Amino acid sequence: MTILRNYRGRFAPSPTGPLHFGSLVTALASYLEAKSCEGRWLVRIEDLDPLREPSEATGEILNSLDAHGLFSDEPVVFQSRRHEVYHSAIEHLLNQGRAYRCSCSRKELQTNHGRHPQQCRSNNFSINKVAIHNVANNHQPFAIRYALNDEQCQWRDQLLGPQHQTVRSEIDDPVLLRKEGFFAYQLAVVVDDIEQGITDVVRGSDLLEMTAQQRQIYRALGATPPRWLHIPVILNDQGQKLSKQNRAPALDNDRPVKNVFEALVALGQEPPASLLMGSVTDSLEWACGHWHRGAIHLTHR
Ligand code: GLU
Repeated sequence: MTILRNYRGRFAPSPTGPLHFGSLVTALASYLEAKSCEGRWLVRIEDLDPLREPSEATGEILNSLDAHGLFSDEPVVFQSRRHEVYHSAIEHLLNQGRAYRCSCSRKELQTNHGRHPQQCRSNNFSINKVAIHNVANNHQPFAIRYALNDEQCQWRDQLLGPQHQTVRSEIDDPVLLRKEGFFAYQLAVVVDDIEQGITDVVRGSDLLEMTAQQRQIYRALGATPPRWLHIPVILNDQGQKLSKQNRAPALDNDRPVKNVFEALVALGQEPPASLLMGSVTDSLEWACGHWHRGAIHLTHR
């Protein structure tokens, strides 16, 4: 594996529930990629939506990562404490004409095939200054969206290879600030990855289709996009993504060695059974030394 001395990776869970096996697999893959490149590995809690996040979830996730020997190399960043930074980024995008306010309801957009019945994009660019002042108010009657460019986007995933994604302006324009006053994932993830100097994003392939849009937001904020590596998501017995929404069971923090062993198997690595007799530190050491991303089964969904 090439050693990238400036490698900076991260694990960025949304605290909608405790850590489950699928999120351990993602955390471990990002950790092993970073460590095997002699890079740094950071943890960021993406707590942007208090309505979907039980208050205990952040503590549970951090405890679970600790129990599995996965320690952030820098202080953990919490998105809930970074609203001013997101606010400035939105102001910048509004000023550049890359964002606009939109008061269409989800239903209106759906029935209109994603086109804005109130022609938000063209109408609003002229009055964006007003929007800037209103950004800080909760429950404003509009969302702020990013104005995408039409694009046939091509980029290369570190695991999946060449990607071709179509970006449709207006129809795909992502929300940056929700009507309820919450900053949205598409904005915060890019702003923070830029500010934390993340060079490599390793995450679940359920986020693959977000990437082309995120590349445009990177550029609008004057930054070069990172490398991305999307790992297959882990499915439950019913073929659904293992997720908090599907009530994936919380990891048992009393069995970290077994959990890490199983996560390595899910990532196509071939850990020797002897690891089960050792400590979680032994397992992680073995895994860093033997990490082989090419062994991740692309068919293992
Ligand atoms: N917070 C996102 C999630 O938990 C992941 C963000 C990312 O890795 O880009 O699904």
